[in-house]
Amino acid sequence: MNKSPKVEELIHYSRVLYERKLLHSTGGNTSVRDGECVLISQTGAELGSLTENEIVKVDLDGKVLEGTAPSKEMGMHLAMYRARENAGAVIHAHPTFSITHSTMISEPTTDSIPPYTAAFYVRAGRVPFIPYHPSGAHSLHEAVETLASNYHAILLRQHGLLVSAAVMTDALGIVEEIEQCCQISITAGAKGEWLTEAQCRQIDEALGRSW
Ligand SMILES: [Zn+2]
Repeated sequence: MNKSPKVEELIHYSRVLYERKLLHSTGGNTSVRDGECVLISQTGAELGSLTENEIVKVDLDGKVLEGTAPSKEMGMHLAMYRARENAGAVIHAHPTFSITHSTMISEPTTDSIPPYTAAFYVRAGRVPFIPYHPSGAHSLHEAVETLASNYHAILLRQHGLLVSAAVMTDALGIVEEIEQCCQISITAGAKGEWLTEAQCRQIDEALGRSW
């Protein structure tokens, strides 16, 4: 893959995710939209040291246009791009506190992360939860497909996070806010108090969004 601003954005933020311990080894995958195509990390690539040669160009149906084998979790990324016109970047990370928090939820919900801070609620808002599916399973991609048009961040049980945004720096910010709220939740236990429903609604109104 030739160097381009999109390729450099993907490489840079993949390394940042690794350096901030939001994924490890070959876990997690990243992508950016490039016109009608998507640039995605190759299957088995270590994101901390991703190179141009480990990036695959695919169309929105997953057909490989350049490079070798895309991440086996590509289906989740493509579901986000197909459903969200303004999605320009997708991160699938394996952050420790988010995964820990996911193991304490048993039923599907559209409010899986307790809104402890306004910063979290502004950036992530309501985050639905998908029960466990094996990594790369078609059933997981289908579950994402049903939520992607309404939600830009999803918690995957015993697995991690899937986040989309206009650009990588925004997607990273959302991942970090969710991870921090999960850490606060685990640290605070039952004593912690969330933003109230009215406070969340006030933020939604200020941002002109509804769920
Ligand atoms: Zn994964």
